[in-house]
Amino acid sequence: MNELYVVSKFGGTSMGDVECMLRSAQIVLRQKSILVVVSATSGTTNELIELSKISEKSSWDNALLIITKIKVKHLKMARELEMNPEKMENLHQLFEELESMSRGIHLLKDCSLKALDSILSIGERLSSHLFTEALSIVFKRANSEYKAQWLDARDVLITDDQFSKARPLTSEIKRRCEEQLSGIKHTNTVYVTQGFIGKTKLGMTTTLGRGGSDYSAAILAEGIEANILEIWTDVAGIATTDPRLVSSARTIAEISFKEASELATFGAKILHPATLLPAIRSDIPVFVGSSFQPELGGTWVKKDVEDAPLVRAMALRKKQILVTLSTPEMLYSHGFLYQIFKVFNDHKVSIDAITTSEISVSLTLDDSTLINHDLILDLEAFADVAVEENLALISLIGNNINHTPGLAKKIFETIPDINVRMICLGASKHNFCFMVAEELGAVVINRLHETFIGNLV
Ligand code: ASP
Ligand code: MG
Repeated sequence: MNELYVVSKFGGTSMGDVECMLRSAQIVLRQKSILVVVSATSGTTNELIELSKISEKSSWDNALLIITKIKVKHLKMARELEMNPEKMENLHQLFEELESMSRGIHLLKDCSLKALDSILSIGERLSSHLFTEALSIVFKRANSEYKAQWLDARDVLITDDQFSKARPLTSEIKRRCEEQLSGIKHTNTVYVTQGFIGKTKLGMTTTLGRGGSDYSAAILAEGIEANILEIWTDVAGIATTDPRLVSSARTIAEISFKEASELATFGAKILHPATLLPAIRSDIPVFVGSSFQPELGGTWVKKDVEDAPLVRAMALRKKQILVTLSTPEMLYSHGFLYQIFKVFNDHKVSIDAITTSEISVSLTLDDSTLINHDLILDLEAFADVAVEENLALISLIGNNINHTPGLAKKIFETIPDINVRMICLGASKHNFCFMVAEELGAVVINRLHETFIGNLV
């Protein structure tokens, strides 16, 4: 039997069509995964959201159009997989459930978050049935001793009742994993289950929030005490920077969880490490790779890494603004920062980087924040507010950044001709960031990549 217990998660594009599913199933076979967590087929969650809105607000015919579209897409896949009538029945039941729920929403003209979660669950429930079939085909063709078995994630992944962003109840999940999946490491059964969805203790269907399948996979990997979590997507791991900006960008072999968190916050789109938290806290290394080109390798995200370079990656975040607040009253006083943070807290706006002097404070924010006029008005109630727009936030991610002599010199020597608006260094060992005019962002990141990463082998 296996010695390494692997949980593999496949995103929506890896479920995109039958070809994608069969390719993903080959990966399961090769990796000897014991539990597979899947997303809805690509685009389906968005279609289900649209369906819920149309059912609530538009005509029933329009709702039926979307239901038909979803049906046609999944039935085509089922036919291509040559599913037998008995297994097709699972899909038909889900289509019926979808139609009844949409009808209910339409009649009541009311789509609560609770109803929405049940509607959204259909996406992952459909794809997981199809993928179970794809996996059975691949096992059979390979004469494998393994069998694919569909599992309802809601029997295990128990959450609270914050619909649309439910939180997992870790100890209950652990108990259910022990109860229901105790044999998982000792049988030939490979379970296929849904990402993104869960159930309350009272049996109501919940979801963990958009993109929640990575989180589900990490929760389940922790629940069954797996040794490896694999996240299969459509890019081969995390890159040193955005390859669309810098042509010499390349895949990072390994990155610590803390670095990956800084990188995600400051620009990289591929995965949000917060979703990996259950795996990281249980010390389960996470591999991120492409199901389309598994041979390209990928990135390991781990709690502790062997190699800790000064600069591992860099990110560019556009559409940033710099808000500077000043008041002479801050001199020899206290509570100014408290007042500022309270306003941001009241408006639930997250601040990215911050620097302060005696009488002023500068904060970087996404420019979409400016739509919130009340936030600015509330700040103006106690300080002069200046807003600079069209900026880009550049961040270097690595290790020991705040204890390395000469790093800032090297950075700024690379860009002697460029005006730097704000520098943030000191808070993190893993991050150095500053702002430049947005139109210069690409030039800056190219030069820095060349200096710090480009010429390494
Ligand atoms: N299907 C869900 C979404 O699109 C969850 C996921 O794919 O992770 O948000
Ligand atoms: Mg996804």
